[in-house]
Amino acid sequence: MHKWTITTTATGKKRQVQVILYERLQDLRGAVTKYENKNGKSEHLDADVIAICHSFFTQKIGKKQEVELEYPLVNIIRLSREYLTPMIIAHEFAHAAQHIYGLDYLMSWKNPMNGANEEFAEIYGELFNAFWPMIHTQVTFKNSNRTTIKI
Ligand SMILES: [Zn+2]
Repeated sequence: MHKWTITTTATGKKRQVQVILYERLQDLRGAVTKYENKNGKSEHLDADVIAICHSFFTQKIGKKQEVELEYPLVNIIRLSREYLTPMIIAHEFAHAAQHIYGLDYLMSWKNPMNGANEEFAEIYGELFNAFWPMIHTQVTFKNSNRTTIKI
């Protein structure tokens, strides 16, 4: 298992995404079940999950009380080495990016730009997946840690 924490300040707030790469799909599914049981969720317990982005905007203090997030970590992306493609990575990052956008600009799950917008993640993931094979053999990526883009 590998674990990374990445940060964006694009919205003006520090927001972090934890990315966990599991060696085996069953390890990922075990972690999803454990996470969802712990957090009172069940939407993915019986699903054929091959990758997932858990997004949250409250944190637990005590057993029942929840408050608005004070720490910057707002998404956990879980990937499996057995099912890993550029499309899956792009898809899960689309969920994470939408959640951060929703948190810092909209503050509502009812707005279409939120971490649960499956349709947006599918569109973004497919476009990225279609482009990635064309570009990645053509160029050497430079300044890959640059975070602002002006065109
Ligand atoms: Zn999705």
